[in-house]
Amino acid sequence: MSSSQRGRTAERPPPRAEDAAGRVPASRPESSLGNHLELDHRIDARSDLATAQEHVAAGEELARLGCWEDAYQRLRSAVDLLAGLDPAERPQSTHAELDRLRREHELVREQARRDFLTASYNRRYLDDRLATLLDDPAVLRSGMALAMVDIDHFKKVNDRYGHPFGDRVLQRVVAELDAALPEGAFCARYGGEEFALVLPGFDPAKAVEVCERARTRIDRHGWLELDPALRVTVSVGVAHSVSQPPDVEQLLVGADVLLYAAKGAGRNAVAFRRANGRVALAGPAGARRDIPQPSTLD
Ligand code: GH3
Ligand code: MG
Ligand code: MG
Repeated sequence: MSSSQRGRTAERPPPRAEDAAGRVPASRPESSLGNHLELDHRIDARSDLATAQEHVAAGEELARLGCWEDAYQRLRSAVDLLAGLDPAERPQSTHAELDRLRREHELVREQARRDFLTASYNRRYLDDRLATLLDDPAVLRSGMALAMVDIDHFKKVNDRYGHPFGDRVLQRVVAELDAALPEGAFCARYGGEEFALVLPGFDPAKAVEVCERARTRIDRHGWLELDPALRVTVSVGVAHSVSQPPDVEQLLVGADVLLYAAKGAGRNAVAFRRANGRVALAGPAGARRDIPQPSTLD
């Protein structure tokens, strides 16, 4: 069987008779119905291939311009067309090109989700995920916690050691935050030295526990390796969704208010709201006095 006849789909016309070597004899009369069908068949395959190649070329151009979504759509169209072709008919160059573009697309898609400096997820990813989490089954069942984390007195770190040093501190803080997060939770850079921790499906007590663990990890990190006089801590405000589905705006504002309370209560602490609405601090910081309360926060 010739390469152009293998792997045909059901709706394709049936192949006509051929010689033992799998070639259609050139001497056959072209007037028979079978010959016409075969010709149509090859034209189909050729035009599919040509269209796929056009998609690939357009995809490459779009990728060059940074229009990744459109480039990917073109690639998908090319892949779909080529999937209908016999593998032997797919040109090697198209294969290689598709693979390259696919890898490039994945890489750029991942880069577009990440913060360049810290490699944590960025604000765009945070916004996208928060929107999709609203109908996540775990979130619909148990709600969602969101924490805002802010490095304490970070300006002083920059002022004393310089920006590049501050950047390294930021990277280490992100590594500790990531290490403290359980499966299903994620960290995203909200801006500057502020990070959001998203804990879908976590109840309030578990979310506070995770945030306190993250705070402790940062407090106990080996900062002395960077400088003997360096100490880095974070303050955290952790809010839990009350409405169903969660109101993201309300969660962000709630976490921010609590972060402000943690700062006001002396920093290096995790602030949360008890069921009665009172603001409390997690862990050993819970014994501190002068924890700002809702009336002084609102
Ligand atoms: P507070 O405890 O009240 O949060 O004090 P703070 O000094 O951390 O807060 P402030 O808002 O005064 O300063 C934040 C600093 O974070 C200032 C800014 O230069 C620094 N910063 C923000 N983004 C970056 C960054 O990407 N790299 C570095 N090195 N510094 C950054
Ligand atoms: Mg800040
Ligand atoms: Mg700060």
